[in-house]
Amino acid sequence: MSGGWAAKELTEKGLKTLVLERGQMVRHPEYPTALKDPWELPYGNRITQETRKRKYVWSRTGYPTPANELWFTDDLDNPYIEERPFDWLRAYHVGGRSMHWARQSYRFSPMDFEANAREGVAIPWPVSYEEIAPWYDKVETFAGISGSIEGLPQLPDGKFLPPHDLNCVEIDFKKTLADKLGRKLIIGRCANLTAPLTHNESPQRGTCQARNMCIRGCPYGAYFSSVSATLPSAERTGNMTLLADKIVYEVIYDNDKGRASGVRVLDSNTGKQTDYFAKIDQYAPFIEEAHHSRKRDAPSGTALRLGEFMKERYERDIPISSTRAGYIPGTHRVGFDSEADQVLLTHTARSRQGFASGALLAAHWIIGRKGMFEFGEVVDEIVSDGS
Ligand SMILES: Cc1cc2nc3c(=O)[nH]c(=O)nc-3n(C[C@H](O)[C@H](O)[C@H](O)COP(=O)(O)OP(=O)(O)OC[C@H]3O[C@@H](n4cnc5c(N)ncnc54)[C@H](O)[C@@H]3O)c2cc1C
Ligand code: SF4
Repeated sequence: MSGGWAAKELTEKGLKTLVLERGQMVRHPEYPTALKDPWELPYGNRITQETRKRKYVWSRTGYPTPANELWFTDDLDNPYIEERPFDWLRAYHVGGRSMHWARQSYRFSPMDFEANAREGVAIPWPVSYEEIAPWYDKVETFAGISGSIEGLPQLPDGKFLPPHDLNCVEIDFKKTLADKLGRKLIIGRCANLTAPLTHNESPQRGTCQARNMCIRGCPYGAYFSSVSATLPSAERTGNMTLLADKIVYEVIYDNDKGRASGVRVLDSNTGKQTDYFAKIDQYAPFIEEAHHSRKRDAPSGTALRLGEFMKERYERDIPISSTRAGYIPGTHRVGFDSEADQVLLTHTARSRQGFASGALLAAHWIIGRKGMFEFGEVVDEIVSDGS
């Protein structure tokens, strides 16, 4: 949920933003079970004992069916210590829990912000309702929150779309509650579009058909989720790169600067580790390559490919220097130079034999395949196979 908002805000301010998600890719409006009838789902949409065992936290809630199973994490694979019962529902895929949240959306009231101090249990919040209110306005307007205007001090009104209707039983109950107890029953405020949005920033979103299948994902984009709302906005700016199946397992900390400089990530399919760094303006990237004197092309194809890759990453032309001399089998060096230090990553071939072995490996790998492949794909697959 919050990752999508961060991506939208940062990209709209012009920042190149990398969004990393540990689970699978989900793209609006591709929600596999959204339009399925019970007979199209396993076991008439009832979960099995095996699933109950694996997803035991999820199974304790009222939610589990095969139609929404894909949005909940396997609790046996992802255990946590529960000293007292605690339903920690996790959602490892693009969109996170915004895919299956219940969409209830309420403002804190001024009295919530002051309650700590008034009751003498803690200090007051460092921000007031008045300071937060414009942000509630912004979020409600973009997300599309439906609700009734009630003027209740404990539950401030917001920038609402029209409310859903109460049904006849609820209308009767509301009246009885008011007549007999003087209490007020109101319709829930939720992130379902009861009318078109009041802005044009989400052309992919339509209005709610009141079909009560939101937990499967909504192909109409009628409820707010990161997948249906914030991520498409971020994507449209052209400033977002979204990568799925990337588990962030370490924040890389720069001791000298006293701040994070990047993240260390494992690919959940291949186990491959990659470090992603924020743009480091004080380091100037460069490439050097050296080969034997008979090699005609300069720079080498490898250096040019590396240059393209780095240009995309660092958004600047990357200088490449080439040396052709003697019998050098092949050296490529990627460097980052700063006032303080220089970081170098060098590959030096000892002989031409390694290149020939690589070509044979690729020839073997390509048997039975069709199309054009990059050597990187060959290596990635061989490494992930462990073969
Ligand atoms: C069934 C249910 C109903 C709910 N109903 C409501 C409601 O009606 N109203 C309300 O206000 N709130 C509701 N909530 C709560 C709300 O959904 C969450 O508070 C909100 O989604 C949390 O947002 P988040 O961004 O912190 O986490 P998430 O939405 O869970 O996003 C976290 C993301 O980070 C990813 N991630 C985690 N670890 C890593 C890692 N190491 N590397 C890379 N990626 C990682 C996850 O896969 C996930 O995509 C509900 C929650 C549930 C489970
Ligand atoms: S149309 Fe409305 S009720 Fe149906 S899934 Fe979408 S948001 Fe939920």
